[in-house]
Amino acid sequence: MPIRSSARRYGIAIVAVAVATAFRWYLNPALHAQFPFVITFCAVASAAWFGRGPGLLAVLLGGFTTWYFILPPVLSFSKQDVSVLQILSYVFAGCFVALVTGSLRQANDDIRDREAQLRFVAAAMPEILFTANSAGHMESLSERFGEYTGKTLKDLGPWGWMELISDGEKEETLANWKLAVSRQSEFRCTARLRCKNGYRWFQCRAIPMRDQQRQVVRWFGVCADIDDLMRLEGVLEEQTNALIRSNEELERFAFASSHDLQEPLRMVGAFSDLLVRKYPAQDGDANYLIGQIRLGVQRMREMIDASLEYSRLVSEGVGERVAISLDQPLAEAVGALKQMIEESGAALVCEPLPMVMADGRTMARVLQNLISNAIKFRGPQAPVIRISAATEAGVCTVSVKDNGIGMDEKSQKIIFHAFRRVHRKDEYPGSGLGLATVKRIVELHEGRIWVESSPGGGSTFFFTLPTA
Ligand code: ADP
Repeated sequence: MPIRSSARRYGIAIVAVAVATAFRWYLNPALHAQFPFVITFCAVASAAWFGRGPGLLAVLLGGFTTWYFILPPVLSFSKQDVSVLQILSYVFAGCFVALVTGSLRQANDDIRDREAQLRFVAAAMPEILFTANSAGHMESLSERFGEYTGKTLKDLGPWGWMELISDGEKEETLANWKLAVSRQSEFRCTARLRCKNGYRWFQCRAIPMRDQQRQVVRWFGVCADIDDLMRLEGVLEEQTNALIRSNEELERFAFASSHDLQEPLRMVGAFSDLLVRKYPAQDGDANYLIGQIRLGVQRMREMIDASLEYSRLVSEGVGERVAISLDQPLAEAVGALKQMIEESGAALVCEPLPMVMADGRTMARVLQNLISNAIKFRGPQAPVIRISAATEAGVCTVSVKDNGIGMDEKSQKIIFHAFRRVHRKDEYPGSGLGLATVKRIVELHEGRIWVESSPGGGSTFFFTLPTA
C-alpha cells in the first residue's frame, strides 16, 4: 500500500538516516573509518522507496550525519583526511541510488495501478474474461464467471471449465481449443455453459499474446452471454417460418381463386356475346346494359390476368438472368405498345441502353408497364417519354421520364403496393397491380425502384439493375 502523505514519507527518510547512522556508530569500533557511507546508502535506498524527494533528503542528511558522527575525528565538523572528490563521489552515488530506487518504485506503483484498473474493468464488464498460459491451461477467470457458475478457478483447476460445458458442445469446444493452442491461432466457439440457474449460451473468443520472438506467452479470452439473443433468434425463426407458411398459403389461395374465377367469367363473356348475336336489334337500354356487362368482363379479365402474373412471379420468380442489352427488352415493350403509342401520338426518346444482367422477358414487362403508365397518365399535351440509363460502380440506373399528370409526395409512397391507386379508376382504368409487379421483378433482379414526381410536373421512374 503506497504511503501518499508527504510528511510521513519525509519522516521515514529522517528515521532511516537516524537508524543507519546509529547502526554505523555502533559498528565504529569494528570498522573505524572504513566504508563510512555503505549503511547510509541503505538508508537512502529505503527512503527513496517512498519517493525521490525523501531519497534526496536522505542523501543530504546522511552526508551530514556521516560527516559529523562517523568520519574521524568524530563529533567534529573539521575533517582533514576527506577530499573534495570523496564528497562529490558520495553526493553523486547517493543521488544515483535515490533517483534509480525512486524510479523503480514509481514504475512498480504504475504497474500496480494498471493491474488494479484492469481488474476493475474486468469486474465491470458484463462478459467473462479469462487468461490461459501458452499451453492452454486456464490461469485466471474474471469475477463474472463466479457470478454465473458459482465456481472459481480454484474449485475447477486449469481444465475444469470443460466440465461445465454442455455435452452437445463439449467435444467440439475442447477440440477447437486444442487446435487453436497448437496452431497459435484465434479461438472461437459458441457453447452452453452450466450456470447456477441452468445452461446459458455463450460466445467465446480468445487470441494469443506473443513476445518479441513471436512466441505465444499467454491467451486472452472473452465469453459473452448470448442466451437471450439465441432465444430471441429461435422465436424469430419460428415466427418467420410461420409467416412464410401463411404467405405461401395465401399466395396459393390467391392463385387458385384467380385461376378458378376465369371459368365463370369466360361463361359470362360468352353468354353476353351470344345474347348480342341472338338478339341484335334490342332497344338502346338493353344494348347499353349488355355493353356494360362486356366491359365489366373485360376489366375483370385484365385484373385476373394481372393477379395471376403477380402470383406467378411470387411463386416462380423471374427466368434465368443473363447478360443482355436493355435495348432488346425495350424494343419488345415498344412493339407490344405500338397501337397505344400511335393512338396517343406519344413521342419516345430512347438513349442507347447498357448491358445488364437480367431476364429479358420480365424486363420487357417492366418497361412496357412504365411506358404504358406514362401514356395512360398523360397531361393535356401529347406524351413525351424519355428513356435513358446511367452506370456507376456496377449498378445501372434506368429512368423513364414523362410529361404527364404526375402525383404528390404522399402518393409516391403507396403506388408500389398492390391494388393501391391514386387516380380515379373511372378516369384511368387499370388493375392497380402494374407497379407492384414491376417492383417485384426489379427486386428479383436485386435492384430497387422509386419515383420522383410532382402534380402536373410529370413523373420519372427510376430502377436499378446490376450491370453485365
Ligand atoms: P394501374 O393499373 O392503376 O396503372 P399501377 O400499379 O401501374 O396500376 O399504378 C398505380 C398507380 O400509380 C396508378 O393508379 C396511378 O395512380 C399511379 N401512376 C403510375 N404511373 C404513373 C405515372 N406515370 N404518372 C402518374 N401516376 C402514375
